[in-house]
Amino acid sequence: MALITSSPKGTADILPGESQKWAALEAALRNICERYGFEEIRTPVFEHTEVFARGVGDTTDVVTKEMYTFTDKGGRSVTLRPEGTAGVVRSFLENGLFNEGLPASLFYLIGCYRYERPQKGRLREFHQFGVEMFGATDPSADATVISLADRIFRETGVKGIELRLNSIGCKDCRGVYRDKLKAFFEDKKDKLCPTCRTRLETNPMRILDCKDPGCQALCGDAPVILDSICDDCREHFEGVRGHLDALGIKYTVDPRIVRGLDYYCRTVFEFVSSDIGAQGTVCGGGRYDGMTEQLGGGDYPGLGLAMGLERFLLLLEAQGISPGERKGPDLFIASMGEAARREALKLAERLRDGGASVTVDLMAKSLKAQMKYAGKTGARYVIVLGDGELESGAAKLKKMADGSERDVTIETLAAGEVTK
Ligand code: ATP
Ligand code: MG
Repeated sequence: MALITSSPKGTADILPGESQKWAALEAALRNICERYGFEEIRTPVFEHTEVFARGVGDTTDVVTKEMYTFTDKGGRSVTLRPEGTAGVVRSFLENGLFNEGLPASLFYLIGCYRYERPQKGRLREFHQFGVEMFGATDPSADATVISLADRIFRETGVKGIELRLNSIGCKDCRGVYRDKLKAFFEDKKDKLCPTCRTRLETNPMRILDCKDPGCQALCGDAPVILDSICDDCREHFEGVRGHLDALGIKYTVDPRIVRGLDYYCRTVFEFVSSDIGAQGTVCGGGRYDGMTEQLGGGDYPGLGLAMGLERFLLLLEAQGISPGERKGPDLFIASMGEAARREALKLAERLRDGGASVTVDLMAKSLKAQMKYAGKTGARYVIVLGDGELESGAAKLKKMADGSERDVTIETLAAGEVTK
């Protein structure tokens, strides 16, 4: 019989063996967040479409091309979240989290959905870790968010990640730059890709972010935003750099970094690796002052970052780092006969009480098949219970690694004897 279907294009099952890596990475991320005072927030997988249209921005690729949007049975347009920030901002405002002391520091671990062409490091369902901070304008806040990301890379041991930093100014100075950029690209219009020709009208800065090689080549001589930013923005950028220098965090100023979402202002950054091919941006972020007002709330400056977990795991794998391994149970209890199986279940529960990981035969297999199963599942110890063992109360505990056996008393066998 053939399966009725495979998984949808651009999705991936995370299977045992792989799931341990995810769990360990997530635990490490949670631990780091805790050390920085960031608390977890969980928001819905879908939001009213306007949350993203407004929050991510009408001129972005994400909103114009990539969203999973549909009308629900109530006639309301809803969208599967393509990213985490907009929903968190909506929730921050709706739940009055600004009353709980500012800055508010939040993190999330979520699935995201974008209708993209699947390739290495690019999926339709993918996972992000992200942090958001609300209320702080000071450059020390930007440096803290960047240092959190830097710590993630340091503590997981990945090498060769480069931090690229830029300032894209504020609403006021960006207007001036936008005009300069428009003027620059105007006479090169014919050489731009069709999307960028539209971008020239709607949001010329997006052109700098285009992945088309032709557009990329044109961008080489484009005016640089850092030459156009106002004094306040310049001072803020110097402040961020000063903190990073003091913390010993290395970066390069990259005037090409503009980030893909409309709401960014001032600080923008990316952590990039050359180890995982074309999709090298593992983590990106920046400041988005003004977004809370975009969504109809008060004025709370915001900043944050998002990290693609698939890409991060690809990178770890490319460098031979495994955050977590499949372990297998401490003990497999083989049994022969009904009475022995009952005893096996009881013994398993008692050892689990003590913290051991224990599996038992649940299929009345032959002893040979049970031993094979124990080996396949990676059990570290095996004990065999049969009529003889039940009668004498004694059994042999076999260590699978070297085949050595030891006499034990069933009634007093302690969890510590199989977990050590
Ligand atoms: P890209 O330039 O690669 O399309 P982006 O600018 O669209 O990335 P963001 O919206 O900033 O990405 O999302 C943050 C991170 O999420 C990215 O740096 C990347 O690691 C990851 N990411 C984005 N889109 C995908 C995807 N389709 N599949 C897997 N990971 C993704
Ligand atoms: Mg993208």
